[in-house]
Amino acid sequence: MPGVFIKTYGCQMNERDSEAVAAQLVAKGYTLAPSEAAADVILLNTCSVRDFAEQKAIGKMQNLAADVRKNRPDVVLGFMGCMAQSRGQELIDRLPDVDLVLGTQKFHHAADYLDEILAGCRDKIVDVAAEPGSEATIREHLLNGSGKKSITAYVSIMQGCNQRCTFCIVPDTRGEERSRSIPDIVAECRQLVSQGVKEITLLGQIVTSYGKREKRDAWRVACGTGDPSPVTRHPSRTSPFVQLLDAVHEIEGLERIRFTAPHPKGYGDDLIQAYARLPKLVESAHLPVQSGSDRVLKLMHRGYTRERFLGLVKKLRRAKSNIGITTDIIVGFPGETEDDFEQTLALAREVEFDNAYIFKYSQRRDTPAAEMPGQVPLKIREERNHRLLETVNEIGKRKYDAFIGRRTQILVEGPSKKNPARMTGRTRCNKIVVFDGAERHRGQLLDVKITRAGSFTLYGDPAVVNL
Ligand code: SAM
Repeated sequence: MPGVFIKTYGCQMNERDSEAVAAQLVAKGYTLAPSEAAADVILLNTCSVRDFAEQKAIGKMQNLAADVRKNRPDVVLGFMGCMAQSRGQELIDRLPDVDLVLGTQKFHHAADYLDEILAGCRDKIVDVAAEPGSEATIREHLLNGSGKKSITAYVSIMQGCNQRCTFCIVPDTRGEERSRSIPDIVAECRQLVSQGVKEITLLGQIVTSYGKREKRDAWRVACGTGDPSPVTRHPSRTSPFVQLLDAVHEIEGLERIRFTAPHPKGYGDDLIQAYARLPKLVESAHLPVQSGSDRVLKLMHRGYTRERFLGLVKKLRRAKSNIGITTDIIVGFPGETEDDFEQTLALAREVEFDNAYIFKYSQRRDTPAAEMPGQVPLKIREERNHRLLETVNEIGKRKYDAFIGRRTQILVEGPSKKNPARMTGRTRCNKIVVFDGAERHRGQLLDVKITRAGSFTLYGDPAVVNL
């Protein structure tokens, strides 16, 4: 059977989509090729969030196409995911060696389309249409990819985004928010746990919006005709996302729950209380702040102020004093002045994020910010990126150093990627810990003593590992 190689660019959502496509292909008899050179089908799962990510995937495909044309003309090449969705046919017009362009609502058709192309029934396929119900099709997992059981898994709970932040292309690449039902998600999580998974990360573009559209639609239906969606039948007044957390929390054998990405404005009190109430919900929150300046936050259409964001951080730390908080920040948004940027630096110092992902603003087509006056020159964006990175690294170093000498619980995930002779685990507050363990520790919750801190990695003392 044909061998497939999938290369993934971008976020965890993309990783999850690639995994589901790979699992669907394996179920149809395809094999997973260990490298591009050994593959009969090469798929690039793309990201559109910044221009850099798009250019990287296009450059990669140009190289693959040149090689395939010269040496292996039967190899099938395809783009899928966000850039495939936003550029569609344009990709084949530009790169005629590409055979397949698969949009973000079409991942589950990958096997059928590849069968048709490989059998010679169809030459080129571009499918980027919207497909109702596609949010529930990212469900297959590859749990034993490396022959070893997986301890952690991602579960996609929804697709799309309705936020319309002025910088962001995601509403165009992922479509309107659509959520899966709670029973459907819980069934997938149960299945994973029965196969040995101990930690589940619930995924969505904005998980705090989970089920909101369905709840609104159901309310409209209740005033008119039709049946409400299963997501709304919970008797309490808590948000659908917290209802989902409650339901997943009940799964026996599951040890830890994480989620990403939330929106700061979606963090209601019920979600903050969930941290205090649900022991399996770990002390970790990724809160994308984007800017510390109210003026810029308004231009970005973020829907919260600096003060409200700081208030949220306080509430979370009051609920769980040891919570790990990370963030995303954009530097050089159109119109950002030195004073605005200083406010972002000050906010980073005040919050003391455990880590921050810093992005130089990138103009995305058809987004309002791309047309805004005051586009910031690249040199200034680079300089601000550098200054903020220094601040974030300095704070991160202090926070990681503070772990030295402490005992902390980790869930052991498997061998370290950098040094497979050592094992790696994660603290509840989402810090990676490397230690001299053994394969038998995989999947165990262990107490380790932290002896050393590197750059965003902790090292544990094997002498105090509970054997
Ligand atoms: N759920 C997140 C939120 O609350 O906004 C969005 C996830 S987005 C795919 C990941 C990060 O990419 C964003 O948080 C933002 O910092 C960054 N990003 C998005 N659009 C960008 C752009 N045009 N230029 C630079 N960075 C961007």
